[in-house]
Amino acid sequence: MKITAALSGSAQSPFTLEEVDLDAPRADEILVRIHATGVCHTDLTFKAQSRGPAVFGHEGAGVVEQVGAEVSGIRPGDHVVLSYRSCGGCRKCLAGEPAYCSRMVKLNMSGGRADGSPTLSQNDTRLFGGFFGQSSFARYALVAADNAVVVDPSVDLAVAAPLGCGFQTGAGAVLNVLTPQTDSQFVVFGAGGVGLAAVMAAASAGVGSIIAVDPVAARRTKAAELGATRTIDPTAEDVAAAVRGTTHALDTTANTEVIDTAIGALRPRGTLVLVGLGAGRGTIDLDDVMLGGKVICGCIEGDADPHTFIPQLLDLHRQGRFPMESLVRTYPAPDINQAVADSRSGATIKPVLLW
Ligand code: ZN
Repeated sequence: MKITAALSGSAQSPFTLEEVDLDAPRADEILVRIHATGVCHTDLTFKAQSRGPAVFGHEGAGVVEQVGAEVSGIRPGDHVVLSYRSCGGCRKCLAGEPAYCSRMVKLNMSGGRADGSPTLSQNDTRLFGGFFGQSSFARYALVAADNAVVVDPSVDLAVAAPLGCGFQTGAGAVLNVLTPQTDSQFVVFGAGGVGLAAVMAAASAGVGSIIAVDPVAARRTKAAELGATRTIDPTAEDVAAAVRGTTHALDTTANTEVIDTAIGALRPRGTLVLVGLGAGRGTIDLDDVMLGGKVICGCIEGDADPHTFIPQLLDLHRQGRFPMESLVRTYPAPDINQAVADSRSGATIKPVLLW
C-alpha cells in the first residue's frame, strides 16, 4: 500500500515526507496506523551511518488496522506501543533476557525482515526499513507482532510512544539493573530523555539521594521537578567532588571523561551502568575498579522485557509516579527536522511526532 513516511534520503540530507510503498502483512505481522513516534538519538546515529534511503523510527505507537492469520492476542482496533524485537527462542530470550537476543541485530537493524526481504520501497527501489521491526517514522508501519505491546485505549499514545525505547532504557537501568534503595546515592550523568526517565524511576523507588549532572540549565530544572535532590552543572562545579560516595551511577553520555569521573566517584562496591552508545575505547583506572570492588555494567533497553515492563511503567504513570508527559513535546510529523534540531539543541527533551 502507498503510505507517507519521513524518508531519510541519505546520511546528510534532512528528512522529507514522501509517498512510499509498504508491503502487505504476512501471517505473523500486523499493520499499525501510527499515531505518534518518539525521536531518539539512535535514529539519528543510524541515519548518520546510513548508506541509502531509509525509514527510521523505533518509538512508535498506534492502532492496529490488520493482523496476519497466525497472530494471536492482538486484534484490529487494539492500541499498541511498539518496542524492539527479540526471537523468543534463543538461550537469552528463554532466560528472560530478550535485550540480549542472539538475533538482535538481524531482527532490528538489518533493513528489512530477518529473511532479507524488504518491507518498504519507493519506485521499485528497496528502502532500508523494518527498523526495530517497525520503521515508524511513517503513517503506517508493518510490525512483527512480537514487538507490539497492547495498552489500554485510555493511554495517551503521544506520551506512551517513547516507552518503547528511551523511557524504558532509563527507567529499566534503575529499576531492573541498579535497584537502588532508599538510603542509596544515585547519580545520573546526562539529563536527556533517558536520564530523566531514570530520575523519575529513582524517585518512584524512594531513593533518598538523586543527583543529576547536565550542562543544560533547562534539563537540570526539569530533573529537580522530577525528583532530583541535587543538580550539578559540570561546567561550573567540581563534579568529582560533588558526587563522591555514590552507590549507584548511570551514564547516558557515552563520554569517556564523564565515565572516568563516574567510576572514581563510586563508593567501594558501587555500580555504574552504561547505556550510551559511542564511547569507544576509553581510559579508566582499573586498579581503582579492582581495589574498590566496583562494578561496571552495560545495559541494553533497560534489560527490560517490553511486554512486562511497559505495562509496569504505565501503572506507575497512572499513579502519578512516572510523569513522563512532562518530557514530551509533540510536533506535527512534517516538522520532523525541527524536532530533530530541538532535540540536538536541548530545547526539547523528547520530541514526539504526530501522524
Ligand atoms: Zn532471542
